Amino acid sequence: MSLPQFKLLRPRTVDEAVAYLAKHGGHGAGVPSPFGSGQAPPIQARPRLRIIAGGTDLIPSMRQKLFEPEYVLDIRHIRELNGICEQGSGVQIGVLTPLSTIEHSELLRRRYPVLTEAVSTVASPVIRNMATIGGNICLDTRCLWYNQSLAWRKACGFCIKKDGDLCHVAPGGTKCWAVFSGDTPPALLCLNAEIEIAGPSGTRRIALRDFYTGEGDNYRKLQANELLTRIFLPEASADYRGVYRKLRIRGSIDYPLAGVAVAIKRSNGHVDDAKVALTAVNPAPVLVKGATELLAGKTLTEMLAEAAGDLAAKTAKPLTTSALTPEYRREMIRVFTKRALLATRD
Ligand SMILES: Cc1cc2nc3c(=O)[nH]c(=O)nc-3n(C[C@H](O)[C@H](O)[C@H](O)COP(=O)(O)OP(=O)(O)OC[C@H]3O[C@@H](n4cnc5c(N)ncnc54)[C@H](O)[C@@H]3O)c2cc1C
Ligand code: SF4
Repeated sequence: MSLPQFKLLRPRTVDEAVAYLAKHGGHGAGVPSPFGSGQAPPIQARPRLRIIAGGTDLIPSMRQKLFEPEYVLDIRHIRELNGICEQGSGVQIGVLTPLSTIEHSELLRRRYPVLTEAVSTVASPVIRNMATIGGNICLDTRCLWYNQSLAWRKACGFCIKKDGDLCHVAPGGTKCWAVFSGDTPPALLCLNAEIEIAGPSGTRRIALRDFYTGEGDNYRKLQANELLTRIFLPEASADYRGVYRKLRIRGSIDYPLAGVAVAIKRSNGHVDDAKVALTAVNPAPVLVKGATELLAGKTLTEMLAEAAGDLAAKTAKPLTTSALTPEYRREMIRVFTKRALLATRD
């Protein structure tokens, strides 16, 4: 599958990147329907520009003609966005930091172990050398009916997320349920991470939990002329025990089909604070509501871990977007939550 034609832009600074985004970051008027003439064509405005970081997800998607931008903004040469540093008592991570650098950071392993665990499960060591943390946070949502070649999608009549107006997963509905399948965001949610976004009107800093929309097609709150620049891990989330558990078909290299991150602080045999977050079972990575209240102040017994598993399973809303059944994925959320919580006692 060949790449579509595009113009490559290579900024060296955030200011240069923002200037390119201001100039080319809007939406095109629409694209000719791939249905061909004679059929009702849903005209979709398409972003004129796509950002590329490591390219490990964007390039395969461009080959599948899921994205056909006029411009590709290659941000890899912006040095100020690559690296991990202590900031005050917390830690700042540039979005271009490769996942392998995060995986091998002693600082992060010691202070934010749930992130190290999650990162080390992404794809394979070779991909982790290229892939960036920013790309993982911004990863496009996935679905069996979407991550396919143009010919495959055309044969099925397309769908809401790209070029069509129906959903094969939830027929009759108007919502896209494609699943967010990044491994690091649930860990970052457990750590109360914040992200910095830069655009023509300056920079803003928001909690990561406010970044995702919960819609499979328009999954993140990022304008077409903005980019992610930095991630902040607060001091208050440091030194929690952390565990990440992931369901995948190929153990050596695969996207999650269900994932659970747990961060927990205990003292005198009691839970002081705990967070549980899920990935790959909803259109956004989500914190399990009520988990902190359920766990805090109690001794972490098998029964309590089981109750947290039940709560997590209720939060998961998997549909038939992947090769494994929704029932199995939801059940594995229950099992992984219990196991992850109990593993923090070791
Ligand atoms: C075989 C294979 C297996 C994989 N397995 C996993 C897995 O197990 N777990 C997992 O989480 N991922 C997996 N991936 C996906 C991918 O490798 C990772 O998610 C990776 O972290 C993406 O980072 P990247 O820098 O390569 O992103 P890119 O491909 O460069 O970009 C990904 C998306 O993010 C956008 N983007 C990137 N940076 C920014 C920014 N700074 N601001 C705004 N938008 C931005 C891009 O426009 C694009 O839409 C796999 C990929 C492959 C090919
Ligand atoms: S959930 Fe529905 S609309 Fe979304 S990608 Fe899958 S089939 Fe398409």
